[in-house]
Amino acid sequence: MIDLLGEFEKKIKVAGKLRDMIEVEEAREAEVDSHARRLPRPCGLTVHTGLGCSFGCTYCYIYDMGFTYKPKPYPLKGLQLAYSIAVNPSVAIGRNGTLLAFGSITEPFMKETLEKTLEYISTTSRYLENPIQFSTKAYLDREVCRTIYNLQKDISALVTIITIRYSKMLEPSAPTPFNRLETIKNLSNAGVNTCLFLRPIIPGVEISDLRELLEKCMEAGARGVVLGSLRVTEGVIRRLRASGFPHIDMILERLERKINVKSQTTVRTSDIKEKIKNVAEKIGLKIYPSACSANIDSHRIGCTACDMGPCGDLETIPEYSLRDLRELALRYGLEVHEVKEVGLTISLKISGQKRKIHEFTEFTKSILKRRVML
Ligand code: SF4
Ligand code: SF4
Repeated sequence: MIDLLGEFEKKIKVAGKLRDMIEVEEAREAEVDSHARRLPRPCGLTVHTGLGCSFGCTYCYIYDMGFTYKPKPYPLKGLQLAYSIAVNPSVAIGRNGTLLAFGSITEPFMKETLEKTLEYISTTSRYLENPIQFSTKAYLDREVCRTIYNLQKDISALVTIITIRYSKMLEPSAPTPFNRLETIKNLSNAGVNTCLFLRPIIPGVEISDLRELLEKCMEAGARGVVLGSLRVTEGVIRRLRASGFPHIDMILERLERKINVKSQTTVRTSDIKEKIKNVAEKIGLKIYPSACSANIDSHRIGCTACDMGPCGDLETIPEYSLRDLRELALRYGLEVHEVKEVGLTISLKISGQKRKIHEFTEFTKSILKRRVML
């Protein structure tokens, strides 16, 4: 039986220990940083190791968010970053805590971000112990791969390659797919659990191209594949057109809704995903429904927190007490009026501040690895 209140106390204790290791001004910076307040996404809490990216992928939306082609390392020191995560009320600390996803608004292993990324992996592994996953398009040599493995043995690596044929067009400044296959090989040889990140799936990329890619990844040592859809903005479509990619029409006819200036629009790819799954299955690559699923599996834990699961080792899903759950809600200033459990889903009638409800829900979901419905 998991001690929910003990997990909450652990978080406070770890945060206090980290605060004592940094200067007062550094602690203040960390407390106002976004890592201290963002709610985790489905893949976990995204950890930013840099700002901007020089790889210039035409399908990337960070340039529409105001980030530039000139990357710089994230300003926090490693200990500050760990402290910032520890004080985030929605984050649970420890091996069974919130998943951490390195990547997102930058490439974590460019020459400008590599050192910061290794520093962040080191401090978060050492002081927080949360399961880490990173995604990369960089070439990682054998030494870097061994360093990564030694920092967190169960770390989950996702190496992004989405096409061999159109890579030069779609990812003009990124390392070639062949360099990235070397990365898969180096990571796998170092002992890192490595998967192909086939995201975004671009309609128009031929299945023969993808078959060749999956076969080469398997040969290089990838254990599985994570598939993900393309999301576009007006800017993404403009850059795709400018790149000379010949199948823009196939993308436009699959839009879930009209392209909006402000938000991203998902491109329907479920039929293409099915084809890729068939090929991957024949080759012997494990298919993960999402990035978090690969992270859970790599760390040999289990999760039932959404309907894409269950994932991983379900024997590890902990039991808990309803009294602890009510008591924990009180720590967030909330009152639980009713709890229903249907299978591994917890259904709550709860009152209090909306933001606090979200934070409590995310913390509980991470620790109990169950769906929490309000
Ligand atoms: S490597 Fe990642 S962050 Fe950089 S441009 Fe490509 S998709 Fe965007
Ligand atoms: S059940 Fe699987 S897909 Fe859903 S949140 Fe958990 S690990 Fe991710």
